[in-house]
Amino acid sequence: MLDVVSKDLGWIEVITGSMFSGKSEELIRRLRRAQIARQNVAIFNPKMDTRFSNDHIVSHSEQKIPSIAIEDVSEILEHSRDAKVVGIDEVQFLGQEVVPICEKLASEGKRVIVAGLDQDYRGVPFEPIPHLLAIAESITKTLAICVKCGNPANRTQRITKDKDRVIVGATNIYEARCRKCYEPPEE
Ligand code: ADP
Ligand code: ZN
Repeated sequence: MLDVVSKDLGWIEVITGSMFSGKSEELIRRLRRAQIARQNVAIFNPKMDTRFSNDHIVSHSEQKIPSIAIEDVSEILEHSRDAKVVGIDEVQFLGQEVVPICEKLASEGKRVIVAGLDQDYRGVPFEPIPHLLAIAESITKTLAICVKCGNPANRTQRITKDKDRVIVGATNIYEARCRKCYEPPEE
């Protein structure tokens, strides 16, 4: 694809998978390379994600890159005017409204890179990722390692009994499991 891209074409890249699969690492890697190429980069994460310092995207492996914590998706447009590359982490917390925003940025000629969970803790597809996958030019599915058996893992096991779709946290609440070791929560 990249061999035929002309300079003014924008597009959408999606990085998606379970928790601990390296989504943030991969997003940080791509954004850092764009910065090394001296491209203007705008980076966002949802403010609610208190696991992170609010002015950086931070991976579970402690890699980080400065970002703008947003409360509303409209802030993305506001801060992306001069950007050639736009990165958004934890996009599953931004809801469906982020989809037309990504479309708009890409139509303006920007490279839009989003990272987020493909499924919730019940294994249900997590909007807006399914929608973004449909409209994206490029998709990367990342896999973690199953903490039970060491196989590639594409599920996020919640190890507490809470029923809310979103509970922000890391190793004390969630673990990566393969489809064999994953146990669906009781309804
Ligand atoms: P994500 O954004 O998908 O939650 P991160 O990029 O934040 O993932 O973190 C990935 C890193 O998490 C790995 O490089 C590794 O250091 C660490 N890690 C912890 N538990 C696991 C696991 N079960 N499988 C893979 N990586 C893990
Ligand atoms: Zn397993």
